[in-house]
Amino acid sequence: MKGLNSSAAEMKLIGGRLCLDFVNTVDGRKNDSSPGKSKPLNSLLLGDKLKNYSDLVAWSQHSGIVTAADAGRLLKESKQRPAAANAVLHRAIALREALHHIFKATVMESGPPSIDLETVNVELLKARRKERLIRTDNGWRWKLIGGESALDRMLWLIAQSAAEFLSTADLSRLRECGGEECGWLFEDTSRNRSRQWCHMEDCGNLAKVRRFRTRVRSSSKTNTKRHSRRN
Ligand SMILES: [Zn+2]
Repeated sequence: MKGLNSSAAEMKLIGGRLCLDFVNTVDGRKNDSSPGKSKPLNSLLLGDKLKNYSDLVAWSQHSGIVTAADAGRLLKESKQRPAAANAVLHRAIALREALHHIFKATVMESGPPSIDLETVNVELLKARRKERLIRTDNGWRWKLIGGESALDRMLWLIAQSAAEFLSTADLSRLRECGGEECGWLFEDTSRNRSRQWCHMEDCGNLAKVRRFRTRVRSSSKTNTKRHSRRN
């Protein structure tokens, strides 16, 4: 199946982790949430790219956790079971917002809200039930078994990615983009820990332009003052 027509299938994947890219399916959320501050899920969010189940499938294909063939199967299944698909979308958004609260709390070096941790653990448990230990040519590994048509299969992988990130990564490298309204999160893997922007061409350049305009404004004010003093 070709890429689906959805802004979720066109977004930049800059988080460095599946779970961070998933949290970044909302644009412009800076200042919108803080640790422990829960919003009703249906009040979300102007820049939300996940407006329906098809968007969730489109994002999953775009991020490489669902094949084109699986995406076709999932969409077909969702048409036959729209209420179930909608329930999965709500679970996805609940998981995403819980992860955002936890990651944001991590950036701010405060404790994770327990209700959000519980949401993630519930999804993780569902994923664990699908895991089997298998033997491959390259040794033993965990594999998610079955569920090619399970509407929530992308949530298993996202929950696993979050668990792996939180339990094994250097969390001091988790950053929020410095863009004024952006709020996207990423893992800073730069050698000198200096990455500031989700993407230089977007937020980085915008910040440069803003700084330039501020400088021009303040120097023209200074010139006007000088000029009026001379008069
Ligand atoms: Zn940004």
